[in-house]
Amino acid sequence: MSNSPHPAPIDADIAVVGAGLIGVSSALALARQGHRVVVLDTQEPGRGASYGNAGHLATEQVFPIADTSILKSLPGMLMDPMGPLRLDWKYLPRALPWLTRLMLNLRSTPFAQSVAGIGALNALSLAAWQRLLASVNGAHLLKADGSLLVYEKSESRHKLEALESRMCHEKVPVERWEREAIQQEAPQLSTALLGGLFFPGTGHVLDPSWIIQTLVDAAQGQGVRFSQETVGSAQVTETGVRLVTNRRELTASRVLLACGAHSAALTAQLTGKRVPLDTERGYHLMLPREHDSLPFAVTSLERRFIMTPMATGLRLAGTVEFAGLNAPPNMARAWQLHRLSHGLFKRDLDAEGATPWMGFRPSLPDSLPIIDRVEKGRVLLAFGHHHLGLTQAAITAEIIATLAGTEGSSPLDTAMKRPGLPPLEPYRLARFG
Ligand SMILES: Cc1cc2nc3c(=O)[nH]c(=O)nc-3n(C[C@H](O)[C@H](O)[C@H](O)COP(=O)(O)OP(=O)(O)OC[C@H]3O[C@@H](n4cnc5c(N)ncnc54)[C@H](O)[C@@H]3O)c2cc1C
Repeated sequence: MSNSPHPAPIDADIAVVGAGLIGVSSALALARQGHRVVVLDTQEPGRGASYGNAGHLATEQVFPIADTSILKSLPGMLMDPMGPLRLDWKYLPRALPWLTRLMLNLRSTPFAQSVAGIGALNALSLAAWQRLLASVNGAHLLKADGSLLVYEKSESRHKLEALESRMCHEKVPVERWEREAIQQEAPQLSTALLGGLFFPGTGHVLDPSWIIQTLVDAAQGQGVRFSQETVGSAQVTETGVRLVTNRRELTASRVLLACGAHSAALTAQLTGKRVPLDTERGYHLMLPREHDSLPFAVTSLERRFIMTPMATGLRLAGTVEFAGLNAPPNMARAWQLHRLSHGLFKRDLDAEGATPWMGFRPSLPDSLPIIDRVEKGRVLLAFGHHHLGLTQAAITAEIIATLAGTEGSSPLDTAMKRPGLPPLEPYRLARFG
């Protein structure tokens, strides 16, 4: 990545701001269409939320991040600093408008719209990743081996059954597994686990940062330039867009905003719209000595975290913390994941050399990303993928390339006529007024 003090002027059709999974996959797709692309990021590619996610291609997760049970959890969220859901008291005034919108989205009509919107993307996601990785000789980086949700308390069974029936209703492939099936397929897990749901249409990646690096290499091979700089302001002009970074001013015909949880300010500058984007901070603990500990990703229903077997060790990940973009991480929450794993396996997991991490999930209150083309085609938007940014990155890139591949003035429904793409309406910026 270039970061020389006197950068050369940039001549690009499309400037992509943000080199996370969404920005990098989209940059590659755009370059393959013949666009000259530059990607700008404050950091090296893939050091944001995309670095430390749980690596789960979570196509089964078609429900919004909250349902009515969150109302009961709210007091606990405020009281328990180590709980799976945590709301920092100091952040409460900032979070309230977002939480209010989240509550309004629990009403049946918007809730059903969110489920349909998430489901439409997820249904296409695994195949999109398989296409993308095959095209960069990276098919081995994805294991389409399914994933398992386990429960251990008999009183949880009705919750599991209710979830299974809602998932069947949404046509999510799901199998019920009893204790014996779990022991047969994942003998490392404790016999105390009573059963679970297996999702055959899911998978996991060997390491998200390996995926990013493979995509960056492929994008560079297609002529994409990566430059380490922070975009401070952005403006639509008569002929394109002007971006001012900490190192220079540059112009491009179009911009793609893919700054994850940091996308709101530039969206407001470019479109005049204030999007209710907040962050659900999440943590992981990487256990580098745990190899072959699991055959696929396993989530605990009661303990509410996931364990994913990666090439670099076992990753324990999860938790949601509302504390904004500026508060320092509370790494005790990451270490807590190791304590939470006690009792799920036949032996305690080895935490020697473990590394904690925190990242910012980019979250909108309706649990849908913004994927859109606005300002006469000069501004493309792809952010807000909350818990599903890895899952939905490859299909998002296909949509963005399709939107960019048509003339700015042509109607979006024409752009989206390509078979295998979902209708764009649920993801449009205009839903926020
Ligand atoms: C603990 C945890 C576990 C998760 N597990 C999963 C999972 O298993 N499956 C799944 O599908 N998803 C998961 N996610 C969610 C997923 O990681 C995110 O949705 C996804 O990484 C978002 O990608 P992105 O490219 O939009 O954002 P990011 O990866 O955050 O990238 C945005 C980039 O923009 C850059 N940037 C921001 N502002 C500027 C600026 N002004 N100028 C230049 N650069 C800028 C940042 O430096 C950053 O590199 C998880 C997230 C967390 C935190």
